[in-house]
Amino acid sequence: MSERLYFDSNATAKLRPEVFDAYVEALRAVGGNPSSLHEPGRRARHLLDDARERIAAALGVHEDELVFTSGGTESNNLALLGSLRPSPQGRALAVSAIEHSSVLGPARALEREGAKLTLLPVDETGTVSLEATRTALRDQHLSLVSTMAANNELGTCAPLEELSAVLEDAPLRPRWHIDAVQALGRVPLDLRRLRVDLASFSIHKLGGPVGVGVLYRRAGVRLEPLLWGGEQEQGLRPGTENVAGAVAAARAIELAVAEAQSHAAKLRRLSLQLWSEVAAKLPRVRLLGLPVDHPRRLPGTLNLLCPKIDGKVLVMRLDLAGLAVSAGSACASGSLEPSHVLQAIGCSEEESRAGLRLSLGREVGEEDVHKTVEILWRTLGAASVNAVEIKGL
Ligand code: PLP
Repeated sequence: MSERLYFDSNATAKLRPEVFDAYVEALRAVGGNPSSLHEPGRRARHLLDDARERIAAALGVHEDELVFTSGGTESNNLALLGSLRPSPQGRALAVSAIEHSSVLGPARALEREGAKLTLLPVDETGTVSLEATRTALRDQHLSLVSTMAANNELGTCAPLEELSAVLEDAPLRPRWHIDAVQALGRVPLDLRRLRVDLASFSIHKLGGPVGVGVLYRRAGVRLEPLLWGGEQEQGLRPGTENVAGAVAAARAIELAVAEAQSHAAKLRRLSLQLWSEVAAKLPRVRLLGLPVDHPRRLPGTLNLLCPKIDGKVLVMRLDLAGLAVSAGSACASGSLEPSHVLQAIGCSEEESRAGLRLSLGREVGEEDVHKTVEILWRTLGAASVNAVEIKGL
């Protein structure tokens, strides 16, 4: 079999050689614990401080506003739980209905602890309702609003400028968190201009190692730590710091920001090619979310609704044919639950199990897209004979 085609970059991107080299070099260079006073400790501290400064410069923020975490999940948990704890009772938060489970999970935990949770609806394209946001802001004293910058399953980007304006207009402006895990390096993100209070990033989505994340926390925004027992990361993330991970994060973020425009342009072109080839060969397949050339479509992410076929069965068939994709988000794809994102945009339960996500990375070229459509066509052709049909589709 020829080389496997990888179209699952939203789950995890291929490790970038430049980031790998920086990571390995840092692993060798870290002589000690950054909290130690001796020379090896000071060397580690220097590497950590330098990484933080470089990330701050790339994101246009101050280095004291960055907290290193173990990934997007922890950044999201720290943003939500850290904002409402220790006293969630009687407080209110609103999150969009299509948030990643690492936002919905802590939001529901806060609800169980006595907070009032509002799920902001989205339209059929996955765009969060500005009207519902305005209403929630008018009717409640919200402590926090959390909206993802780009949805991992659908590839719909939030209207961040408009959301920012709606929040600014609120009589009591709540704290605003954005999950920017899928957005960084593909869509412009000016945290200061948007007046974002908290933003989550994950390094393995940018070609870095798994297990490294960053939370941006605007100066003055107080958070309750999730863990206790050390003063690292301004007391917000105790535990010996992952210095080499931070160095890799700096390289990955610098590259992502520097190349964002050209990378997005390339992904946009390949997405157009992918969709026009799919539409020509597989006319029954529907593209979910925004039109492929919409300015708010996350470059390189397409969710295809393939009629009469269970998404997970299709993923396995495509895998056998040499194409790696996912049904819904990677975190949920081990579960039998329908996608909450597809349900939120109005898909039936059956349809919500049938979405196939193709997400393109920087290694993908035109020929790969072409081969992918060939595989889809062959597999879906065979599947229409042998389909695991879902009732109602
Ligand atoms: N947020 C979004 C939008 C994601 O797509 C993901 C990963 O799939 C996460 C958060 C979680 O990031 P991590 O895998 O680094 O915990």
